[in-house]
Amino acid sequence: MLGVRIKNIHYSHQKIFMARRKRSSFLEDLIDIAAMLPWWVAVLLAIISYLILHNIATAPEVTPTHLVPGQMGAFVAGELKRALALYGQYIFPFAFSIGALLSFIRKRKDEETTFSSYSKQNTIERSQSPACPNCGSHMVKRKAKKGANVGGIFWGCSSFPKCYGKRDY
Ligand SMILES: [Zn+2]
Repeated sequence: MLGVRIKNIHYSHQKIFMARRKRSSFLEDLIDIAAMLPWWVAVLLAIISYLILHNIATAPEVTPTHLVPGQMGAFVAGELKRALALYGQYIFPFAFSIGALLSFIRKRKDEETTFSSYSKQNTIERSQSPACPNCGSHMVKRKAKKGANVGGIFWGCSSFPKCYGKRDY
């Protein structure tokens, strides 16, 4: 009974989430997509989309001299394309630029967390580790991958594989 209720709650949350996704504008979708790309790809897209759309928007107008039905259709389609490009030349680069910025910020955040946790761990290991009996470098905790002592922890030289210094842990 409770399981069913939880499932229903979960389902309705999903529906709300999906509805919200659906309501988001075309511009937001574009920004979302661009933010998922590497920031430099998004920058590149911003530049390329501007160049292409600006080119279309400023292309010389071809006015049909004779109003042949087939030509009229092409003329209207051309005008429509031009009108879309007129707005698109600002909308696309704008969305891609925002996306690039978001992507860049996210990447930097990821790098910061990775780096800080790595250096913190590194500091702890260094302060507690003995010196290598062979070369004097600091030693790092390692797990034996083969030999009689498989899975056993020992101190290995940080200069491995240049130095094979070992100590009991
Ligand atoms: Zn060593």
